[in-house]
Amino acid sequence: MSNTELYSSLNSYLRSKFGCKVIKLSIDGGFSCPNRDGSLAYGGCIFCSEEGSGEFSGDRKLSITQQMKDQSLLLETKWPESKYIAYFQNFTNTYDNIDSLRKKYDEALAFPNVVGIAIATRPDCLSIDVLSLLSEYNSKTFLWVELGLQTIHEKTADFIRRGYGLRTFDTAMKNLNSLKIKTVSHIILNLPGENFDDMRNTLEYISSKQVWGVKLQMLNILKNTDLEKHYLSDKFYLRSADEYIELISNLITYLPPHMVIHRITGDGKKESLLAPLWVLDKRYVLNGIQKYMRLNNLYQSKNYLDIC
Ligand code: SF4
Repeated sequence: MSNTELYSSLNSYLRSKFGCKVIKLSIDGGFSCPNRDGSLAYGGCIFCSEEGSGEFSGDRKLSITQQMKDQSLLLETKWPESKYIAYFQNFTNTYDNIDSLRKKYDEALAFPNVVGIAIATRPDCLSIDVLSLLSEYNSKTFLWVELGLQTIHEKTADFIRRGYGLRTFDTAMKNLNSLKIKTVSHIILNLPGENFDDMRNTLEYISSKQVWGVKLQMLNILKNTDLEKHYLSDKFYLRSADEYIELISNLITYLPPHMVIHRITGDGKKESLLAPLWVLDKRYVLNGIQKYMRLNNLYQSKNYLDIC
């Protein structure tokens, strides 16, 4: 985090590491998820869409290379000198046999100007064999692994049907940390029944587990999800844009200075979003956070207590 930054963003981190703009190319690697295909449960997490939480990635009918090509063509006019991170986003990207995983990761890494790979998965899909494969990639490229935790509170985890307990996350973190593999936790803010202290506790918990990065976002209610049905029958409170700005600006102060913030507001697809519609105005939210933090003299780590 530089002196002028209020928080440590992924963009700044990657620019300083690679010396240029680095952009994620989102890949749908054709995976499934044990929380949807019946091996653990059917239906999946209550908020999960048909795309498996990856609304902006490539078309799974296309090859990985073609998906990356399509996205890089759109980006190269604006950022001709940029490098790429191959981001396996949709569904559970370690949920396959080792040969198939290796083939998919290798195809992505072979794409021109790719400097690393990011893999989104579940903590209960990290077998010894998968960990060993990830360790191999970690030794030859820049790698991070994303875990969809969302909350540390078991009551909320049951409500969202996450399908694993906190101890499973702890074990995954222990294993990944022991292999020196970078981790990113996904956290959803404004989950029903959670107040500021509950969300702060979640952030303090992941900090104590030495998570490398965090993705924060307002709860999005997507159409055709079970969360939509729940929301329509029992309208729980959704914060306004200004309330979210105040919430996240304060929460960031509890994060350790070195934690890389990958996201502070979500990227909903207009046509699939039911509520809150203000999340589509990303510029308003990002500018609002900057303004609120400066006005109130807030910055990442201001209230962080090292309790490790
Ligand atoms: S783990 Fe991810 S892909 Fe699986 S159901 Fe939950 S959000 Fe969807």
